Amino acid sequence: MNTEKKRMSLPIQILIGLALGVIVGLLLQNNPEIADNFIKPFGTIFLNLIKLIIVPLVFSSLLVGVADLDDAAKIGKIGLKTFVYFLFTTSIALIIGLVVANVLNVGAGFTIPIEDIAYEAKEAPKFIDTLVGIVPSNPLKSIVEGEMLQIIVFALILGAGLLAVGDLGKPVLNFFNGIAEAMYKITNAIMKLAPIGVFGLMTPVIANNGPQVLLPLSKAILAVYLACALHVVLVYAPTVKLLGKMNVKQFFKGAFGPWLFAFTTSSSSGTLPVSMEAAENKLGVSKPIASFVLPLGATINMDGTAIYQGVCALFIAQVYGIDLSISQQLTIILTATLASVGTAGVPGSGMIMLAMVLQGVGLPVEGIALVAGVDRIFDMIRTSINVVGDLACSVIVAHSEGELDRSITLETIKAQEKAKHMSK
Ligand code: ASP
Repeated sequence: MNTEKKRMSLPIQILIGLALGVIVGLLLQNNPEIADNFIKPFGTIFLNLIKLIIVPLVFSSLLVGVADLDDAAKIGKIGLKTFVYFLFTTSIALIIGLVVANVLNVGAGFTIPIEDIAYEAKEAPKFIDTLVGIVPSNPLKSIVEGEMLQIIVFALILGAGLLAVGDLGKPVLNFFNGIAEAMYKITNAIMKLAPIGVFGLMTPVIANNGPQVLLPLSKAILAVYLACALHVVLVYAPTVKLLGKMNVKQFFKGAFGPWLFAFTTSSSSGTLPVSMEAAENKLGVSKPIASFVLPLGATINMDGTAIYQGVCALFIAQVYGIDLSISQQLTIILTATLASVGTAGVPGSGMIMLAMVLQGVGLPVEGIALVAGVDRIFDMIRTSINVVGDLACSVIVAHSEGELDRSITLETIKAQEKAKHMSK
């Protein structure tokens, strides 16, 4: 039997893992500890496997990517374009989030008495500290601790240095090229376990967040999901089409795998190996651009998180009966844009940064307690949108630099159509 041809595509396998996770999670609602103790470990092991390749993958592929770009001015140009796109889309995300939250009146009709709310907010890092922290003083420490922005800066500096020493730098670059390639291979192998991993991640989420927990927050959840969908339609689709000159359908086909992966893992950093693979092999983004834009995006570009922070700020204000003025809502746009930059690409960090947004407009930080219980439900959608935003940016920057390999995209589409035909 020809198993190669018959094998289901990975996103379908992941979807099956997801669906099983939902079903088993619903069945285990009365005993969530079974899900936590026996099923969650599979998800944790899977996530750990993915995480273990992130630092070597990002560092080595960015280092090699910088050397391939071969020109400091070009790196600066790419950096600027990336940054402008990130900031532009994040502020639009906030506007969409706030408009949807205002229209839906998210906090109206919320019934939990405010006196019951108690929440120890963890302190959000200050923006200036985040900025200063970008430059590492001890690069090995940054690598050991997985400080993504510092790793990016060090890779850029070392890559430029290796280029400057000419032939002497070549063996080092070859070495890291070998590591990067090996990491891609390992990613592919680990991804074979994704359906089990996703099952292990989803089951405890559903078992712990049953419908009865979700109901009172349904309006806020609906607002975040709706605003995220609108952001995709109003921002990513047109910018990919107009600025990246890519067929929107092709883009979403290529981005679907990473989207789904981010949705189930709630970690943009964890999704990096998957999105880098998809950007290169499905969207045709060159390796240097993908290895620059995507790790940077996974660290600082968080449109979904921005939407969530905007909606939740308004939600909390309404529940406390505080009327936010237009200028306060503008402050939310500003602080949440900064907060989303400072948000780490790991589960739950967007909620911690929400504290900064609430403080910025003088809202009670304890309000976070209202949304904390179901954070995972918010986290799944915001992370998946964060990742799609990074991919959109990589396509646009690659196109503008003439580094988009269009034959890859078309061939992928053709191959997919063919495979579909064969399975019929
Ligand atoms: N989990 C999100 C991410 O990794 C960050 C957040 O919590 O908003 O992109």
